[in-house]
Amino acid sequence: MDLANCFRCGRLFAKAFRDICPTCIKEIEQEYMRCTDYLRHNRQVTMQELSEATDVSVRQITTFIREGRISIANFENISYKCEACDTHIREGHLCDSCRRRLQSDLKNSEKVVRQAEPTTQSTTTYRITE
Ligand SMILES: [Zn+2]
Ligand SMILES: [Zn+2]
Repeated sequence: MDLANCFRCGRLFAKAFRDICPTCIKEIEQEYMRCTDYLRHNRQVTMQELSEATDVSVRQITTFIREGRISIANFENISYKCEACDTHIREGHLCDSCRRRLQSDLKNSEKVVRQAEPTTQSTTTYRITE
């Protein structure tokens, strides 16, 4: 039996499938129920209001949204922060500009690899026009 410290509360528990102890799993389920319950009656709620009304951390609510357990498609006032900056987004992990930057970073690193390869044709030919 593997013992591990709970990722959420730090208590020692017998590790099964997750990094979270059974007590925390139960608590998270209750938090999830509170959120969905509140959302059912409050279409215009913001992330902050939802967090305060349900006593669930913004971080946990964000996790629910990212896991796809809470859909915010119908809640136009709810958004969460991009993982790389403070821009508010409504889907995925990154905002548009961070996603673009990441893509160009990837392209640049490909270029660096290509440049590092030995070049076989290094002679430049000059054409002299008379
Ligand atoms: Zn725990
Ligand atoms: Zn961003």
